[in-house]
Amino acid sequence: KKSSLGETKIAVLGAEGVGKSALSVRFITKRFIGEYDQTAENKYKYSTVVDGEQMAFEVLDTRSLNEDCGAREDVLRWADGYVLVYSVICRKSFLMLQETQKKVEEFRKGASIPIVVLGNKSDLAHMRQVTHEEGRTFAESLGCPFIEVSASEDVTNVTEAFHSLCREIVDFKRRS
Ligand code: GDP
Ligand code: MG
Repeated sequence: KKSSLGETKIAVLGAEGVGKSALSVRFITKRFIGEYDQTAENKYKYSTVVDGEQMAFEVLDTRSLNEDCGAREDVLRWADGYVLVYSVICRKSFLMLQETQKKVEEFRKGASIPIVVLGNKSDLAHMRQVTHEEGRTFAESLGCPFIEVSASEDVTNVTEAFHSLCREIVDFKRRS
């Protein structure tokens, strides 16, 4: 069954190097390639079934220049929902993501915003700088889902993360 809600526009935001490109490519191709052009901003179109409904996605894999985490105004305006990514091996990326979240909230003026928080690179346990608890607490304060993922080693959690954001967006569109 095809959804009548149109495209689900998702922007992937986060500091440089946290794995925005790896996660976007993982979701769409189910593959991990390893190295991605840091200077490119890619928009992917993709269609898949979520909860029995055919959904059309547009995924914007942003380029995060000047510590903006990709959260430029045109990006914030374009997207229906946001994947907020930090790296569990980089505390700075976690702190930067909290600033980014504030920017998103200011831009969308407090309306409930479809968001999912991802702690990426969970495969690199020996280098961890952000605990699971810290990530969970942050997401809880926003009332949004939180998942630790590994773009390099895992398909299931990455797919589930995009699907759960899709669910939030669908709910949001149906309410408004
Ligand atoms: P972006 O700047 O946020 O788009 O980050 P990239 O997707 O380009 O990833 C930055 C680097 O981290 C690349 O070398 C990736 O191969 C690597 N990387 C991305 N995700 C993971 C992950 O889950 N685990 C590990 N070990 N490396 C990752
Ligand atoms: Mg990238």
